[in-house]
Formats: sequence, structure tokens, C-alpha cells
Amino acid sequence: MVELAHFRNTVGGEHVESATGNWIESVNPYTGEPWAKVPHCNATDVDAAVDAAHNAFVKGPWATMAPTARGKLLHRLGDLIAREASKLAEIEVRDNGKLLAEMAGQTRYIPEWFYYFGGLADKIEGGVIPIDKPDLFTYTKREPLGVVAAITPWNSPLLLLTWKLAPALAAGNTIVIKPSEFTSCSTLALMDLFREAGFPDGVVNTVTGYGHEIGAALVEHPKVAKVAFTGGDATGARVYASAARHIKHVTLELGGKSPNIIFEDANLDDAVKGAISGIFAASGQTCIAGSRLLVQRSVYDEVSAKVVELARSARLGDPMSPHTQVGPITTLPQRHKVLDYINVAESEGAKCLLGGKIPEAPELARGWFVEPTIFGNVSNSMRIAREEVFGPVLSIIPFEDDEEAIEIANDTIFGLASGVWTSSIRRAIRMADRIRAGTVWVNTYRAVSFMAPFGGYKLSGIGRESGQDAIGEYLQTKCVWINLAEGVPNPFVMR
Ligand code: NDP
Repeated sequence: MVELAHFRNTVGGEHVESATGNWIESVNPYTGEPWAKVPHCNATDVDAAVDAAHNAFVKGPWATMAPTARGKLLHRLGDLIAREASKLAEIEVRDNGKLLAEMAGQTRYIPEWFYYFGGLADKIEGGVIPIDKPDLFTYTKREPLGVVAAITPWNSPLLLLTWKLAPALAAGNTIVIKPSEFTSCSTLALMDLFREAGFPDGVVNTVTGYGHEIGAALVEHPKVAKVAFTGGDATGARVYASAARHIKHVTLELGGKSPNIIFEDANLDDAVKGAISGIFAASGQTCIAGSRLLVQRSVYDEVSAKVVELARSARLGDPMSPHTQVGPITTLPQRHKVLDYINVAESEGAKCLLGGKIPEAPELARGWFVEPTIFGNVSNSMRIAREEVFGPVLSIIPFEDDEEAIEIANDTIFGLASGVWTSSIRRAIRMADRIRAGTVWVNTYRAVSFMAPFGGYKLSGIGRESGQDAIGEYLQTKCVWINLAEGVPNPFVMR
């Protein structure tokens, strides 16, 4: 029997197991075999992690550290992540089955968030208010919130964590992280780098386990000031309701049903590549998946045929191999969900142009694969066009003109991302103005940066990650009034 890799949580700077001593196995989606185990925590472990974070926030050296020094720690952490990028990427691939090329690209890029927000740490400035009343000096300060609970999903564990960690730490908060129980290992491995970088104990802590057991306990915890969540919209709504009961700050990065729109005047070969990268990269397991491909009717048949041809050539296989283009689905329940949606689409009359099954190749039999699947002539009212599948399933929807494209694009509860393929700059800008989504890509798809604000309209979320605004999501403003006059005026009237 293969011995499982053994990852522990970090709480108050110590490596710890769970209070009960129980473990959860992490299964490699390519082999279907467990490869690691992580502590199975409960509410007692949540209390310990939140207490450690709270103590570090109110008492430890972190609380009094100059922002410039905080920024330097973030820089050092970025350097260490760059050093360990390959190792962290391999851990992620074993946990979530996404391509090594994709995960290594992410882990190599992650340091930029720590450099960028490290640079912002000592630029968090208040202002002096030229107040309208005599003998008062009034100024503002921007202060951290306290303990932040960062709850992350299984699709890109470290990248999505970084989007929360870097601004939250730059702003001076402390953190408790709850990764998905399917993909906790890279987060736990990252913790050792915080210690090496010199972060004080308790600034960053982890708890691993099930969402309904410890995620909920973390959100409810009275010492948690803010919840930063990425995941599905149904869980996001539960987290939001629960945080509301305790008046906590919340950012939510939820799902999408993003339209990727191809006009007849686009460079169609580029647009077809954009359609493929929008849905089959990462096996469709990204919140920004361009899962609704809107194609102008005059080029509908040509584009559909080209998309099918390119998708048919995709090499499925070992996600560690540089030759693989589509890996397995990360979790077994998720594969069931994807296959269920394929059945629903067929029963609603969508025409399956490609895939639709578990692949038959014997070398893929152990992994949780689903064939790249394309449905044609989809109507935007079908469930396959309305609900987030989170898998390699593309719906192609025809439209006549700009008006209809906008109508279909915006006819969704979501508003995370979108793509527009056109050679007309006027059309591109008009579409960008009218699409109700947090991101519009023109003649490209799936680009993100530490500098560019990212987040959702409508049910795709609240708040923005990355970019200068993101640090504001982890700060609150205090206003200080100082009396410069001798004595206190009439105490019975408002000054
Ligand atoms: P969830 O939204 O359920 O999980 C995201 C994170 O929240 C996980 O760490 C999860 O823990 C945790 N969680 C679950 N329940 C609670 C709770 N009550 N309180 C606090 N935290 C909780 O995603 P799933 O993994 O179940 O995937 C479901 C669907 O969500 C997918 O099919 C996909 O459509 C969508 N999704 C969207 C993502 C995005 O980036 N927008 C990312 C991942 C999923 P645990 O894993 O232990 O349950």
C-alpha cells in the first residue's frame, strides 16, 4: 500500500492535527487513489485557529508592526513562493487534476500579488478634513478589520487564496483559511513559507474539513470580522445570510454563466481558439468559463464546425504530462453533476455535437474524465444555458444582431465575465458598455492580473479582488476629532 503524504494545519505557528485526531483522505482525480491526508477538524479546531488569529491581531508584534515592515514580509513571501512554485503546482495537480501547465503558470504568477500588495501596505493613507466647525482638527485613518475567514474552493486553491491573502495581510488583518476538503494540501504546504518569511505566529492559520462542519462555524464565529468566500452561488448565499446575522464584512466571488460572443466580422480562427480556451481549459472548472458561446447566425455553422473540430482534437490524459490538454474533473460528485447536466440538456432538446460521455480509452478509466462536450442550437431558456455546470460542457446559441446578442448575454442571473470577438472597435466598446458583467474581454479570453479588479455583477458576487481597490475590502475608516479650543462648549447641544 502506498503511504499517504501527511499534511497538518498551522495554528498559532504550530503544526497541529485535529482535536479528534481524525483525517480526511485527498484523492488524486487522475488515478482515483488517495495520495494524501489532511486533518478532519471540527468547531473546537475552529475556535483554536480563530483565537490564535485574534491574539495575533490584538497583541502580537503584527499589531504594532510598521506597514513598511509588513510590506517587506509580503515581498519575502513572494520570493519564497517563486522558489517553491513547481513543488506547489505539483501538489495542486495531485489534489485537483488540473493541468500542470495551468497550475505551474498560476503558482509562478502568484508572487506578483504579494509584491503588488506588499507595495501598497505603506500607502494606506487617511486624510485631514478641512472641517466646517471652529477649533477642531479632524482626520481619518484606515484600519484593518480584524480576523478574516478566507474560504476557498477546489478549482484553483492557491490562486484564489492569494487574491484574499495578499490584500488582507497588506491591510494588517490576520487570517484563518478554510480550503476545500478536496484540495487542502497546497494551502497547508504554503504555511511553512509564512514561517520562513518571518511572519509572526498566528497571523495566518488554517483549518481543514467539511464546509458544513467548520466552514459554517468559522462564518458564525463572533471573533471573525470578515468573510472572503469563493465558491458556488448556493453556498455563497448561505454564507452571506449567516454573516449578515452577525453584521460581518463579506466579499463573495461566485459562479458564472459567461457569454463568449462571436460576431461575423471577427477573425473566426482566433475566435474559435478563444471559445475553446474559455471552456475546455481547466475542463471548464473555472468561475469565468465561457460556457455560453453566442454566435452570429451568418457564421453559426462555420464556427460550430470549427469549434467541434478543434475540441475533438483535444488530448485527454495525465494532467502532469505537458502533452495533455484536458484533464479529469476534480471531484467524483462534480463528475456526477456534469453528467447529470448533459442528460438534462439532451432531454430538453439540445443537440449534442461532440462528447457527452465518459471517455472509453482504457488509459483514462481510473480518472474522473468527461469528454469535451458541445451542444448546438441551444436556447437560452434551457437549463444548460442558465445554470453553472462547472465542467467541459459548451452551449452554442445563435443570435441575429447586436441587440439580440446583448439581450441573450444579459439574460442570466450571473454577471462575472464575458468575451466579445469582433474587428470593429465601435462594436467592441458598445458591447463592453452594455454587458452586465464585472469583466469584458475583447478578442481574448481568460486573462487576469494582480492589477486588474475582478468580481461579479448580480449573483456572481459582491466586492472586487485584485487591483488597488481590493485592499479597501479589508479596511475600515475611523474619523478622529480633536478639540483645539480651551474648555468644552455647551454640553447640551450637538457640536
Ligand atoms: P462550494 O461553494 O460548496 O464550496 C466552496 C467552499 O465553501 C469550500 O471550501 C466549502 O467546503 C465551503 N463551504 C461549503 N459549505 C459551507 C458553509 N455552509 N459555510 C461555509 N463554507 C462552506 O463549492 P462546491 O465545492 O460544493 O461546488 C459546488 C458548485 O459550486 C460547483 O459545481 C460549481 O458550480 C460551483 N463552484 C464555483 C466556484 C467558483 O470559482 N465560482 C468554485 C467552486 C465551485 P467543502 O468543500 O468542505 O464543502
